[in-house]
Amino acid sequence: MATRNKSASSDTIYALSSGQPPAAIAIIRISGPEAGLVLERLTDVRPEPRRASLRMLRDGSGDILDHALTLWFPGPATATGEDLAELHLHGGRAVVDAVLSALPALGHGLRLAEPGEFTRRALLNGQMDLSAVEGLADLLTAETERQRKEALRRADGALTRRLGDWTRSLLAIAARIEAEIDYDGEVELGSDSTASPISALSADIDKALAVPPAERLRDGLRVAIVGPPNAGKSTLFNALVGREAAIVSDIPGTTRDAIERPLSIAGMPFVLVDTAGLRETDDPIERIGVERAHNQRALADIIIDLTGDMAAGDQPIISVSTKADVRPPREDALALSAVTGEGLATLHARLADIGSRLLPREGEVALDRRYRERLYEVRAELDAALATSDPLLRAEHIRIARERIDSLTGGAGIEDMLDALFGRFCLGK
Ligand code: GDP
Repeated sequence: MATRNKSASSDTIYALSSGQPPAAIAIIRISGPEAGLVLERLTDVRPEPRRASLRMLRDGSGDILDHALTLWFPGPATATGEDLAELHLHGGRAVVDAVLSALPALGHGLRLAEPGEFTRRALLNGQMDLSAVEGLADLLTAETERQRKEALRRADGALTRRLGDWTRSLLAIAARIEAEIDYDGEVELGSDSTASPISALSADIDKALAVPPAERLRDGLRVAIVGPPNAGKSTLFNALVGREAAIVSDIPGTTRDAIERPLSIAGMPFVLVDTAGLRETDDPIERIGVERAHNQRALADIIIDLTGDMAAGDQPIISVSTKADVRPPREDALALSAVTGEGLATLHARLADIGSRLLPREGEVALDRRYRERLYEVRAELDAALATSDPLLRAEHIRIARERIDSLTGGAGIEDMLDALFGRFCLGK
């Protein structure tokens, strides 16, 4: 993988960076050492840097491709850190196809970019750091307001700055230990000056670890609707997602598998899951459905309970009583009717209320698993550093802690992680 990347970064790459045609305009980006020459071949004269110029584009044999707006950004101060050209074409399918086929025919080793390759180059050339790239990946897939804001903060480097603060603290602590060692080979127990900055750093990292995990925000909170057959689960599901996604019927056992749909409430992401009715059954397929319903229940962050007898567990439970238009609701349950709409607004409000407790708050820097795991290791090293009175050992724990933080922002062993990350990008980004 590493070899491929090294040779790949000397290629000149191109891709359609805007959405699928047809559209009003289509943007093709070309990045790499030959980008300027390619632009010259297409337009005759290389346009003035960083100014939009309207040019006739021609293919290798001089035939007209399109009348397009062209932009020329000489590297390294560009989005990819390389020479970069942009063609803003008329967004018809035939125009885009013609230009995309004319480009490799020009020679210059031009090849189609892989998904995320422009951003990968930005990372390799130091134009972006890893946390910012992760934020960008989240931003491209953000569907709700809360996801957009968090991704933007991250793309903007909020998490990177936090990691930078911690690294600086560790460096300062390491320097102080060095000074103590140099000054006097023996350090008296209890008189050391690094215990309190180490504790302060620990507390700061604990605070970051206490923020609800980023995955919840990225993937949405899972809300499982659980209850016996025919209780009105699918009807409630449809009422909440606002369309006929689940099959409603009065034949018990209709929903045999879990159906899920994303749902945005108060700008927060949820995934609503309709499950098979919980009952004993001889039908082997329905039984699988019931088993899955139990699994979904275990996976859920929130449960909407139609059974009325679900004991409070780890997950918040909203107890609801359906069909309130035709029967008296159960006591202590939220009365709901899909026919009159009664109770739906309250259910929304309750979900929003629970969501705001389970999701990272606006402005908080949320961590995903990779960051949490490393930071737990950092915490363990800090604890070990505090537990020893030997300055050499303490210095070693601080050094390992710093290495753990460094591993989050780059360095060895990161290639696989990069491949997984760039797999989330679309072509042309
Ligand atoms: P599920 O098996 O729990 O998914 O139940 P369904 O959503 O398929 O509903 C079973 C039956 O109850 C269907 O005939 C629905 O039309 C009916 N039903 C569901 N919700 C309501 C409601 O709020 N009021 C009334 N009157 N009927 C409902």
